[in-house]
Amino acid sequence: MIENKNLGKLELYIHIPFCVQKCKYCDFLSAPASKQVQNAYMEALLSEIRGSAVPDRKVVSVFIGGGTPSVVDVEWILDVMEAIRNHYLLEEGAEVTMEVNPGTVTAKSLARYRAAGVNRLSIGCQSCHDAELSRIGRIHDHQAFLDTYRWAREAGFNNINVDLMSALPGQTLESLEDTLHKILSLVPPPEHISAYSLIVEEGTPFYEMQKRGELTLPDEDMEREMYWRTADILKKYRYEHYEISNYARESYQCRHNVGYWTRRDYLGFGIGAASLYENVRYKNADDLAAYIKNPLNCHTQIQKLGREEQMEEEMFLGLRLSLGVSGERFREIFGVSMWDIYWEQIRESVEEGLLEDDGRRIVLTKRGVDLANYVMAKFLL
Ligand code: SF4
Repeated sequence: MIENKNLGKLELYIHIPFCVQKCKYCDFLSAPASKQVQNAYMEALLSEIRGSAVPDRKVVSVFIGGGTPSVVDVEWILDVMEAIRNHYLLEEGAEVTMEVNPGTVTAKSLARYRAAGVNRLSIGCQSCHDAELSRIGRIHDHQAFLDTYRWAREAGFNNINVDLMSALPGQTLESLEDTLHKILSLVPPPEHISAYSLIVEEGTPFYEMQKRGELTLPDEDMEREMYWRTADILKKYRYEHYEISNYARESYQCRHNVGYWTRRDYLGFGIGAASLYENVRYKNADDLAAYIKNPLNCHTQIQKLGREEQMEEEMFLGLRLSLGVSGERFREIFGVSMWDIYWEQIRESVEEGLLEDDGRRIVLTKRGVDLANYVMAKFLL
């Protein structure tokens, strides 16, 4: 169930930007780095976490992401957890997620993360086919994923997300289905699956390869077919398609991400990390060396959101969710009817078959999901 009230609650995002090597499609703020640089960064990160405490807000979720957080020495993750406990009101039962990649963990390191309070793992699998993994530049094979998954269960993780990708070079509908069936036959299967289509972003090796005509990808129709085949298969296996690219077994939605889509306040720590606090959005600068020198003074792109901008966000973030945007919640937050503000856009989108409007909430149709960016852009005032 999506919460309607975010007041007084806070989420924390911790960015650890290190990876063993850069995947060929990746445009995230991440890179390989020496142990010395990693250690200096983690010291700075701890200073930022400790020095930014908001004592009166209940922290309901923590997300340690990257990069590959499991690349840094385990002790740093224990220190991060301790800093959060000592400086914030971490709610009993808060969701604490950590991203890990196969090839960067052991049975022992996973057990130590669990003992330190990490209670949800997000494992980067992407594909169960070694040839596909190698083509996209992943450091691991499928066996390494299977080992990671088994160790995670043995360590006591009972809330696991598996990241998958579609529209990969050389991927076919059959190989995608095979990947899904392999994941679904894990014992027990993951509580959550994120399934994203590959997008070729500027500045990545894939972008350059595409320019040189060296990258062959499934075409747009096939990409959509893969998307809906994923949705159909996961539905059969009782996963709720609760957000455009996310699926969960009952009550296992990622609370942290749902908070983001419902505009709960969050503080981001580390280079490039974004925050939303009391309707101010800001970001930390990307510069690693500057951050290490002065982690408490690196906020950039500070933007105070006016009422219109808050409404826009409510619409385009809410439309990502299968529950859509609730008219009641909109009125509660803004004191006006969503239909008064967005009558034109809603009517037009319903006529185009992109939105369903039952008088209580608006939800993307299947066609609307295929054209999600187009629909969402309409709600920018
Ligand atoms: S592991 Fe993740 S963050 Fe690191 S390079 Fe690959 S996709 Fe990017």
